[in-house]
Amino acid sequence: MHLISIDSLSDEQIAILLDAADLFARTNRERARGSDKLAGRTVLHLFYENSTRTAMSFAMAASRLGATPLTLPVERSSVQKGETLEDTARTLNAMRPDALVVRHRENGAVQRVAELMDCPVLNAGDGTNEHPTQALLDALTLRQHFGSLEGLTVAICGDIRHSRVARSNAKLLPRLGAHVRLAGPPGLLPDEAAESGDIEEAIAGADAVMMLRIQRERLDQDLGDAPGEFLSRYGLTAERLQLAAPHAVVMHPGPMNRGVEIASEVADLAERSLILRQVENGVAVRMACLDLLIEA
Ligand code: ASP
Repeated sequence: MHLISIDSLSDEQIAILLDAADLFARTNRERARGSDKLAGRTVLHLFYENSTRTAMSFAMAASRLGATPLTLPVERSSVQKGETLEDTARTLNAMRPDALVVRHRENGAVQRVAELMDCPVLNAGDGTNEHPTQALLDALTLRQHFGSLEGLTVAICGDIRHSRVARSNAKLLPRLGAHVRLAGPPGLLPDEAAESGDIEEAIAGADAVMMLRIQRERLDQDLGDAPGEFLSRYGLTAERLQLAAPHAVVMHPGPMNRGVEIASEVADLAERSLILRQVENGVAVRMACLDLLIEA
């Protein structure tokens, strides 16, 4: 079994993953948090794009379960000598890893790798397509905070067009009973959502506001925005957050561009900002995913 898209998970598997991750999140806070469930297993990481949270939390997840995480430093690998993605995958497969975690800039690249591997492959983000473990950790964070996602309104705002986080969340959160509103500036919304763009309308009365970074690395041309302009027109300022429900929480998958899509004081709001809780849950969710896939 691979984890490439939210679509590949059944409702039952989603429930199993969230319950297991919730438990791991609790034990991760204890001193004696290690486990040897996956002792002797090796998890390989193949990241063609930069990462802080996903890469480190997958590595921590593997080691917390007793497995050995190994990262191929792509910038110093034979990729630089012209080796194709497929040949790199076949090479790693010949070493018989127990799981492979892949991030790639092209949509569908992780699926292509999965077709060549004998072990489970986990999508750590493919282009603008999907980032399923991010959506799972977002769902867990919401579930922990509100008890359930049933009936919640979640506004996802910013560069939706290029966001694999938005795409995976738009699939997962409604399956758990939440209503998702997508909003972003003109040009940063996907064609199919073009008419639902107003950020203030999306935030109004929402229980959670998830802000997204502008994926400048995926834009053909610079937005040409002056410093501070994006924040005042489209970003989450303290003033805009007041439009949300009084108990509304703030989320962001990271990395944040403070002062662009989110005001610094909003990102750091005690009680209401769940951003570091999302990071914490990233380790637990990836433990649950590795455990389920490797043991399957
Ligand atoms: N870390 C997330 C991703 O890899 C979000 C972002 O980079 O803006 O998709």
